[in-house]
Amino acid sequence: MTALIKARHVAFSYGQHPVLTDVTFTVQPGEIIGLIGENGAGKTTLLNLLLGTLPLPSGQLQLFGHGPGDSAVKAHLGAMLQGDVVLPNVTVGEYLQLAAAQFAQSLEPQRLLSDLQLTALKHRALNGLSGGQLRRVTFAVALIGNPDLLFLDEPTVGMDTNAQRAFWQRMRALRDQGKTVVITSHYLPTIQDVADRILLLQGGRLVFQGPFEALQQRYQRVVITCQTPLPVTPFGRLAGVVTATKQAAGLQLITTD
Ligand code: ADP
Repeated sequence: MTALIKARHVAFSYGQHPVLTDVTFTVQPGEIIGLIGENGAGKTTLLNLLLGTLPLPSGQLQLFGHGPGDSAVKAHLGAMLQGDVVLPNVTVGEYLQLAAAQFAQSLEPQRLLSDLQLTALKHRALNGLSGGQLRRVTFAVALIGNPDLLFLDEPTVGMDTNAQRAFWQRMRALRDQGKTVVITSHYLPTIQDVADRILLLQGGRLVFQGPFEALQQRYQRVVITCQTPLPVTPFGRLAGVVTATKQAAGLQLITTD
């Protein structure tokens, strides 16, 4: 099968500060990839390189056989980034209509609002929304072009329990539709159940790629401790906070909120 994303020896620095080093991986069509790592590991930078919003100084990146940012790629791509720029004094409904107009073929905005339980927010101005509400709207915008490939950066941050549940329900539907998704998190429970494969970035290096079970084996120990209130996992199952630790070195790989 031809890989949908090919990354070879990708490196990136902000000035003198190296952020990604020798990152090589592929993503097959229909895979859900959990890109995990502590804050500052380089996840957002890698997504921005994949999107073409940062220029690639070193290494190779291909999506659908094209370079990042190529117009042939954009038509198949949806993205939900952190700190997405939003237009003030535009309602949620108008914003989604504007986004839909960018695509030759898009999902029906009213239907999408309804599916994502956003109809009640339709006439609300974007700049009056809470952080979690805004994340839900930017998720809708990422989906509006019915993309084959989705990049989601810490998508559930700020969402309340119900919104998270709706989000993971949609993720399951996307998986069933054969969509390819790269989803980042510094918080493992949010993606461990839905991801086919985990990519673990540590200090800008890809130190692990494989299924979650292999991550557990490699790091020998997954510590689960309970907190109140318990966070919601992808499929509504409640779990404690998960930290994967490398037993011998006592190295903490994934920190939690
Ligand atoms: P993550 O998404 O894993 O939290 P980032 O890709 O956001 O990691 O950041 C990786 C590193 O790059 C961090 O050390 C961060 O401080 C730094 N960084 C991120 N954006 C910039 C920027 N625009 N200018 C300089 N340094 C940055």
